[in-house]
Amino acid sequence: MDPRVEQFMAQIIAKNGHENEFHQAVQEVAESLIPFIEENPKYKHAKILERIAEPERVILFRVPWLDDKGEIQINKGYRIEMNSAIGPYKGGLRFHPTVNLSILKFLAFEQVFKNSLTTLPMGGGKGGSDFDPKGKSDNEVMRFCQSFMTELCRHIGYNTDVPAGDIGVGGREIGFMFGQYKRIRNEFVGVLTGKGIQYGGSLIRPEATGYGAVYFAEEMLKTRNDSFKDKIVAISGSGNVAQYATEKVTELGGKVVTLSDSSGFIHDPNGINSEKLTYIMELKNIKRGRIKEYADKFGCEYYENKRPWSIKCDVTLPCATQNEIDENDAKALVANGCSVISEGANMPSTHEAVEVFMENKILYGPGKAANAGGVAVSGLEMSQNGLRLSWTRNEVDQRLHQIMKDIHATCEKYGKESDGFINYVKGANIGGFVKVAEAMLAQGAV
Ligand code: NDP
Repeated sequence: MDPRVEQFMAQIIAKNGHENEFHQAVQEVAESLIPFIEENPKYKHAKILERIAEPERVILFRVPWLDDKGEIQINKGYRIEMNSAIGPYKGGLRFHPTVNLSILKFLAFEQVFKNSLTTLPMGGGKGGSDFDPKGKSDNEVMRFCQSFMTELCRHIGYNTDVPAGDIGVGGREIGFMFGQYKRIRNEFVGVLTGKGIQYGGSLIRPEATGYGAVYFAEEMLKTRNDSFKDKIVAISGSGNVAQYATEKVTELGGKVVTLSDSSGFIHDPNGINSEKLTYIMELKNIKRGRIKEYADKFGCEYYENKRPWSIKCDVTLPCATQNEIDENDAKALVANGCSVISEGANMPSTHEAVEVFMENKILYGPGKAANAGGVAVSGLEMSQNGLRLSWTRNEVDQRLHQIMKDIHATCEKYGKESDGFINYVKGANIGGFVKVAEAMLAQGAV
């Protein structure tokens, strides 16, 4: 490791104890940024990177709620307000039993760069709870969401901090939280994004992250005069991001052959066409069932407790969770001929896996660039709420598509190496940093 990065990371580790995911996210950024900062001493003297790595505010609270048996349950609630240099804090809420401070700080840190890359005026934040919506009734989820918002509503606002969804938080949860905010604050404002279309949501918001990751991959393919036509695509996850990534790949002529959940993955060599995708959406969004049921229904292979990275493919879209591709998975993907990775999920590849992609000159789009389409359309939802009007599906999709092309161009601008290879990690980190750093310089020691 570069000794300057090592020295910087020693401070981060000393200040942030056992927060391994947070260390991982900061180190990845520091490796790109520290050489850049050395060349631009104004950022060094103002300690911009040191400041960005410290949240502006961390809110931690108790979330008590009553289950269907009348018993009191207690969860932890969090909101990390990471950086507001270029706009109100913006970032999703995650409800999953693995949620802790380290995971939310890594996500909030990544969000600062991602939001800057979108070109829209949004700061970075993230939040959530260790609550597990799986196996809970709709009423239990509602009571939890209401209790969560009862406290959170003191800290957020449409000009202050605007949360959205993430793992375990979809349209149902956003609706319950929006209802509670409105009830307590007596104001109908765009304080959350990902809202239902009937009450201020934006068309294309549900599709945005998945579509965006595919648009980004399409731009990467174009740099090699290639396209999605006839490409075999391995996708992980089967939630919001994975579903719409599958839809867009299929529309562009590719064939999606895998999807997964936390229990295992399915391999369907015939491809997950639109009829099969409709089944998955019903299974996952309404019945809330397991991916194994797909294999039973369509007669394909199901691999219990495995991830899909051993399957031969041309393009990979990891869309489940952090650290789901390790070094061996990365080697298997490369050996099987995969040459494009576009991350729908946040930090799905470990540090070692990323090194494998780089050594092999794979077109590797890190999450903060590739999955920025979700927050970009959240930004467009905020604009529509501010204007009190709704854009058409086509209009929002076109804006999303353009934003993904612009993010790709930014990555190319800051990440193109002397041999022509585009280092998207470096490009996204520097491209996201510059705007935030300039705003922080202009605002003084804040
Ligand atoms: P969902 O909750 O809709 O889906 C998550 C999917 O990932 C499910 O299939 C889930 O399986 C699987 N999964 C979750 N945790 C694990 C785990 N520990 N191991 C294996 N599989 C797991 O979430 P989203 O689709 O919204 O989010 C997916 C990823 O995309 C996350 O990394 C998120 O941060 C990122 N992202 C999402 C955005 C959005 O707009 N929604 C925006 C940008 C990034 P199971 O059902 O078994 O839990």
